[in-house]
Amino acid sequence: MYEIATKARLPVLVMEPLKGGALCSLVPAAEKKLKENFPDESQATFGLKWVAGRQNVSMMLSGMSNFEQLKENVDMFCNYKPLGKKGDTTAEEIVRIIQSSGEIPCTACRYCSDCPRGINIPAVFMAYNTYKKTGSRHKFVREAWDNLDEAERPDRCINCGLCMRRCPQKLEIPELLSMILKELGK
Ligand code: SF4
Ligand code: SF4
Repeated sequence: MYEIATKARLPVLVMEPLKGGALCSLVPAAEKKLKENFPDESQATFGLKWVAGRQNVSMMLSGMSNFEQLKENVDMFCNYKPLGKKGDTTAEEIVRIIQSSGEIPCTACRYCSDCPRGINIPAVFMAYNTYKKTGSRHKFVREAWDNLDEAERPDRCINCGLCMRRCPQKLEIPELLSMILKELGK
């Protein structure tokens, strides 16, 4: 948890500023754009700095998995420098690239994991996103179908809508599962 004391703001708390880590694993074209414009920033520091620069944001809650990430984040906020206008235009370009890549903005939060049919929704979406990033169809079929138990596979969806009510990203989950099934050739 970081408190940003650079200017007086209304207290706005941002949870998952890096979308559960999804913004630390950008599609190659977005990664290239970031490297061109901000060669010294990692994907994580760029994302966190950009959120910190939004008006009224006073606090962020961002998960970290190891000591290196903790150190990187503490160093960055101890020496916080705003990204400026170039940061905004870069962020806009990155958003455009991500949206056109077809990636599903699932953060793997698992709030949808009580699907009554047992479908492993985040695993299916992650497999699809990796496919979009790498183009590896073989891996996609393995992770979105072959490696899943029959009960976890996307063809079991009955369109009940329960998962959509729980998804903080407001994803049209049954529609996306149906699109993935077509992509899998099932
Ligand atoms: S809509 Fe499909 S994926 Fe969502 S909870 Fe119902 S059966 Fe599961
Ligand atoms: S609730 Fe939404 S964002 Fe979270 S894992 Fe399920 S599909 Fe992904």
